[in-house]
Amino acid sequence: MTAELLNGREIAKDYRAGLASEVEKLKENGITPNLTVVIAGNDGASLSYVRSKNKAAEKIGMTSDIVHLGEDVTEAEVLEVLDRLNNDDNVNGILVQVPLPEQVSEDKVLEAIAPHKDVDGFSPVNIGRLYTGQRTFVPCTPLGIMELLKHTGSLEGKDVAVIGRSHIVGQPVAKLLTDQNATVTLMHSRTKDMVGKLSAYDVIISAVGSPGLIKAEHLKDGAVVIDVGNTMVDGKLSGDVDFDAAKEKASWITPVPGGVGPLTITMVLNNTLLAAKWHNGIE
Ligand code: NAP
Repeated sequence: MTAELLNGREIAKDYRAGLASEVEKLKENGITPNLTVVIAGNDGASLSYVRSKNKAAEKIGMTSDIVHLGEDVTEAEVLEVLDRLNNDDNVNGILVQVPLPEQVSEDKVLEAIAPHKDVDGFSPVNIGRLYTGQRTFVPCTPLGIMELLKHTGSLEGKDVAVIGRSHIVGQPVAKLLTDQNATVTLMHSRTKDMVGKLSAYDVIISAVGSPGLIKAEHLKDGAVVIDVGNTMVDGKLSGDVDFDAAKEKASWITPVPGGVGPLTITMVLNNTLLAAKWHNGIE
């Protein structure tokens, strides 16, 4: 079997076209969604990631600003910026790019973002809302993974292995899959014979960051494979899955790059649109 490609770039393009027409409608009613990204320091990869979010927002008609702070910024200064953005009615979505300089506590910063502007969905209030089934901003990578999976058919009754238990990918995606009536096993570095167990699963979602971890021989025939891994190897982005061999055994598979990544940025835009709607009382 040769897998069908889950082309994240194409799926993201269609999804963003839908968002752009919703933004246009909001603008006709005098509402222009704004995404503001806060970054501290001059890390090249982080800066380019921030600029790409900024450009993506502008491309669908939103406004987008970057607050660029120095590497030596104090925690109090970051909290002051967030307080200003929280109280600025023109700002709908706030993202803080991590990692932050070591003198700034990531936990304190996440708690300081107003939950109704926390479009990453990482603040404790929004995480709590996700797990209690209340309206919230679903974290962007898990939401993007669920959008990709819509193209592969129903998840009801499927056995799914999620590899990696981080708060930003593995744990929330396990919750979203469970909500879709899949049966989920959450695996991690202490799982015994992890790759040996994978052949029992209909869907594999790997969020580890270990290139070559999963090979074709580990997969069930016809498995759906979502590779979240993103690791630079010799200047090229690599996923966790040996793509060339795995695509001959899977039914659907994401490439790296061009799989999950484009959907993550798309869902930042999705959540910013929701923030603008909810702020204006539109459901
Ligand atoms: P993380 O916080 O470092 O978590 C990695 C997880 O992998 C941990 O739960 C760890 O287990 C588990 N793990 C490590 N080695 C393992 C092994 N040999 N077998 C099984 N599990 C193992 O990483 P993250 O932030 O979730 O990101 C994971 C990957 O996804 C990275 O490559 C990251 O760049 C990528 N990513 C991509 C996107 C995107 O948009 N494409 C977005 C976010 C992240 P323990 O908990 O036991 O340590």
